[in-house]
Amino acid sequence: MAETKQYDVVIIGAGPAGMTAATYASRANLSVLMLDRGIYGGQMNNTAEVENYPGFDSILGPDLSEKMYASSTRFGAEYGFGTVESIEIDGQNKIINTDMDRYITKAIIIATGSEHIHLGTDGEEHYQGRGVSYCAVCDGAFFRNEDVVVVGGGDSAIEEGLYLTNLAKSVTVLHRRDKLRAQQIIQNRAFSNEKMSFRWHTEVVSINGDDDKVTSVSVINNQTQEVSQINASGVFVYVGLKANTQGFENLNITDDDGWIITDDHMRTAIPGIFAVGDVRVKELRQITTAVGDGSIAGQGVYDYISALAAETNEQVI
Ligand code: FAD
Ligand code: NAP
Repeated sequence: MAETKQYDVVIIGAGPAGMTAATYASRANLSVLMLDRGIYGGQMNNTAEVENYPGFDSILGPDLSEKMYASSTRFGAEYGFGTVESIEIDGQNKIINTDMDRYITKAIIIATGSEHIHLGTDGEEHYQGRGVSYCAVCDGAFFRNEDVVVVGGGDSAIEEGLYLTNLAKSVTVLHRRDKLRAQQIIQNRAFSNEKMSFRWHTEVVSINGDDDKVTSVSVINNQTQEVSQINASGVFVYVGLKANTQGFENLNITDDDGWIITDDHMRTAIPGIFAVGDVRVKELRQITTAVGDGSIAGQGVYDYISALAAETNEQVI
């Protein structure tokens, strides 16, 4: 039977945003739980090298994640495992239901980030784990000395494509326009990398292969409508992100695309529910901006709970 546990603050998601919120809230002496459906670290675990986080020339994503986790648990915040499936409001209390347990809390910080959008083409689902991947760091080593394609023209596609050049024989980037969206410094590296080539105005029609392995990709040139095949055993898809807000629809705190709307204090329209990091409507989705959001909300929950306590003459700490 599901157990019910109580905390001042439950943070949903233990990526950089959630871990920073945990550091601030627990340092303010609140009882804090970070809940995650996987290992702490979030997208940092899928990032080879991070070279735009202040204080480090370059650091591996999983290493930065370990360092943040150590900071986040230093003042007593706990980390727990579970997929949050729904949130209910019961007066000033909030109830969180996971696939395993139930939590009652005064405040919630949603830090569930985002996940990769799928292409939706023929063969994509069938060949997932058999040549189709959304994570070069996780799966790149399976394609040593083989030909792979990367789909997309943003930071993820180009940066992860560059990572793949260390392993694969060739990396062909398929992009639907003739200009990349990726940051200029990443583009410059890509254009000067001999193993990387580009097919512009190119869209994937289908991913093909034998029963258990990708062998080629059929593509169409969206200018000439010419269809052709590219031989490849790996297809790395990086065509953008969507918010992880499934299960929170009843709260009505998102925009039409599912991103959570907050004010500058990371407060949503529901008192006591904050949102931080990639999951919220924002301009720049980065580790630096995620930790910035996390610190604001980690302090904000203290103010919120203090005000609640003042109303009821309770002591906060
Ligand atoms: P996330 O890191 O996405 O963490 C969200 C967490 O919430 C996850 O651990 C997830 O398991 C958990 N979660 C989701 N839903 C639930 C649920 N229902 N219940 C429980 N847990 C849940 N940024 C940089 O600054 N530098 C880089 O070099 C860089 N490289 C990148 C490379 C790639 C391939 C990608 C995809 C992104 C990169 N970014 C980079 C962006 C950066 O990783 C994100 O901006 C950052 O991780 C966002 O942090 P977050 O905490 O908001 O979300
Ligand atoms: P993104 O910036 O949204 O780029 C998605 C790319 O996929 C775009 O080039 C887009 O084309 C293309 N695309 C979208 N839908 C498509 C479809 N159906 N078919 C084919 N192509 C499609 O996503 P991202 O690259 O994953 O980056 C997400 C966020 O993480 C960004 O904020 C990014 O800055 C951040 N990030 C940062 C770093 C870093 O700082 N080093 C690294 C990785 C990611 P168009 O260009 O034509 O729209």
